[in-house]
Amino acid sequence: MNIKANDPNLKSWVSIPENSDFPIQNLPFGIFSNGNSPRVGVAIGEEILDLKVLFELGFLENTAFEITDFDAAVLNPMLLKGKQATRNLRNRLSDLLNKENIELQNNSEAIAQVLVKAKDVKMHLPLYIGDYTDFYSSEQHAYNVGCLFRDPNNALLPNWKHIPVGYHGRSSSIVVSGEDFHRPKGQKRPNPEEPPVFGTSNLLDFELEMGFVTYQGKPLGDSISTEEADDYIFGMCLFNDWSARDIQGWEYVPLGPFLGKNFASHMGAWIVTLDALEPFRVAGPVQEPKVLPYLEYKGDKHLSIDLEVAIKPEGTTEKVVSNSNYKYMYWNMNQQLAHHSINGCNINCGDMMASGTISGPEEHEYGSMLEISWKGSKSVTMNDGTERKFIKDNDTVIMRGFAKNDKVRIGFGELAAKVLPAK
Ligand code: CA
Repeated sequence: MNIKANDPNLKSWVSIPENSDFPIQNLPFGIFSNGNSPRVGVAIGEEILDLKVLFELGFLENTAFEITDFDAAVLNPMLLKGKQATRNLRNRLSDLLNKENIELQNNSEAIAQVLVKAKDVKMHLPLYIGDYTDFYSSEQHAYNVGCLFRDPNNALLPNWKHIPVGYHGRSSSIVVSGEDFHRPKGQKRPNPEEPPVFGTSNLLDFELEMGFVTYQGKPLGDSISTEEADDYIFGMCLFNDWSARDIQGWEYVPLGPFLGKNFASHMGAWIVTLDALEPFRVAGPVQEPKVLPYLEYKGDKHLSIDLEVAIKPEGTTEKVVSNSNYKYMYWNMNQQLAHHSINGCNINCGDMMASGTISGPEEHEYGSMLEISWKGSKSVTMNDGTERKFIKDNDTVIMRGFAKNDKVRIGFGELAAKVLPAK
């Protein structure tokens, strides 16, 4: 696929620091405010391009959009215009930021209005998320959990290699990077010989995930094939599916995750378009046993995205506790979306689909403290000498991700969230 804005040779007249997450080849979308109303912005280097003002100044004429698509507190109105429209928009923004193009570059009055320093703005939850689905699609993670709670010979349940297993999560408690949250309380049974007790969760955990965001799907009753799936995926973000393991462990039988998950999930503020990620496609694992025909797919549909998790206790520096990669997924997004809709379930604009914890084969690639501490049997030493098996009060968990080749580095920004003591 030849997407103009992906040309690795493009250079911007906006200065881009080395190793920036946001070169001209990225152009991720988010919602920001700068003492004014929230609006659509695009990250470029250390600045944000204000699409509302850009539109008002006439730079986005001949696009499919209206002012209400950018003068909006969420990206949904923009996404309702569909894949071709947002692809054309990104190409147009790429032109405007291109060193070879003088249109905006030579208009200092306009530049002063449309470019805002990223450090000065507040980022907002970028979507109205009607539905949130969480998959369970990393084989190493499913295997590790199976080993921890069953046994290594029976780690994967019989359905796992036939179905991209998932569940419907809680969309109302998805919040954006930077929003602190309180440690959850709930019912748990720390001693299996004793009755359950109520109290604060002692086993609070992160789950390193990536989310993908959809365009408007098809009506109820229709399905999206693996072949069609790319046309329904807008982009991806970092995602932390917080989990209270003690609450989860007691409540999940037989219907699965509930209060152990729905107290908060964090998403990154920037949504990187699937278009921008196209150069980083890689082949997925051989799927054996063979999947059913509706889950078969053609071409490389996995993506290589380096991922990192760090814990920063209060008053000290951060410690990296995991380095994983999105390529470790067994099931890709096309298969997840095809499976999600094969029964006729409708997919809506702004739905959030999370990958499930992304763990790689090596121990330093595990994507949750449950796995890193092997269910609390070992600990990680922080830079201040304190130990972690799970997440403590006032810890900030930071996730980062980027895709890179020899020419371009496409990043996701930082997803950071601090755990406050229970209320
Ligand atoms: Ca999860």
